[in-house]
Formats: sequence, C-alpha cells, structure tokens
Amino acid sequence: MEGEYQVSDVDQMWALGRSFAETLQAPEVVYLEGDLGAGKTTFVQGVVSALGSEAAVVSPTYTLVEEYVTAGGCVHHLDLYRIQNSDEVEGLALRDRCDNDSILLIEWPERGIGALPFPSWKVSMRYRDPGRTVGVTRR
Ligand code: ADP
Ligand code: MG
Repeated sequence: MEGEYQVSDVDQMWALGRSFAETLQAPEVVYLEGDLGAGKTTFVQGVVSALGSEAAVVSPTYTLVEEYVTAGGCVHHLDLYRIQNSDEVEGLALRDRCDNDSILLIEWPERGIGALPFPSWKVSMRYRDPGRTVGVTRR
C-alpha cells in the first residue's frame, strides 16, 4: 500500500481509504497530514466503512475524538486542529486507547507532538489541480 496516489475526486479518496483499511492490522497508529479540506476525514470514512462499521463518520473537530467499533478493531478518530497545546492531548487518555485491538487515525498530529504514540503509517495529502496527491508510507 506504500506509494503515491493521484486522487481526482471524493469517491476516489473514499476508495483509497477502503483499500488502505485492508492493509491495517490492529494495533496501528496512522498520522493523517494535509491542509484543511485536503481529504483526511473523507479518507477516514473509507477506512471505517471497509472495517465493517455502518456508522456515519463525522469530523471530530469539536469533540477531538470519535470512536467506532468495527470488526477490525476499535477505531479512534482524532482531529487535533483545535487544540492549543499538546497538554490537551493528555486529556484524551490516549494510553488507554492504545490497546492491541485499537486503530488510531489522527488528523493534525503535528499539534500533538510529544504527546502522541509513534505512527505505524503516515498518510500525507496535497492539493493538486484537480484533486489531491496522497502519499502513504510505512513508518
Ligand atoms: P479534511 O478532513 O482534510 O479537512 P475533508 O475530508 O473534510 O478534509 O474534505 C474536505 C472537502 O474536500 C470535502 O468536501 C470533500 O468532499 C472534498 N474532497 C475530499 N477528497 C477530495 C479529492 N480527492 N478531490 C476533490 N475533493 C475532495
Ligand atoms: Mg477533517
């Protein structure tokens, strides 16, 4: 699954998330990097649906974290965009969330530097005209 992908629309971003989910084997920690609107949450929607949850994935921009119980493990979807400093990450009880059955998908990980577990994958998204370029690397 490592590589660089040209993703021309929302449906393809969703599909890329679905394929990526097939390579995941809990426990995993995935950093999702890219500007606002780059497609991080869309990608997560694909991952969560492929793991077998029918829940609607909503952006955790205000709640900071949302959880989905799936056949592939418990998915914790974090969005750290609104945190002021990495101390706030401590309040998310990440250590308790990092059991053997968990998959952490973290938007804006750079805001939680020092307080986050190390990633097993990095997914980085850049704007391209049209669509996006998505890099997937195993750490
Ligand atoms: P982020 O979580 O990175 O802020 P979102 O996943 O919420 O971004 O996507 C923001 C907007 O961009 C949404 O309207 C989504 O449908 C759209 N989008 C996502 N991926 C693509 C893509 N590959 N090409 C064009 N638009 C996309
Ligand atoms: Mg988002």
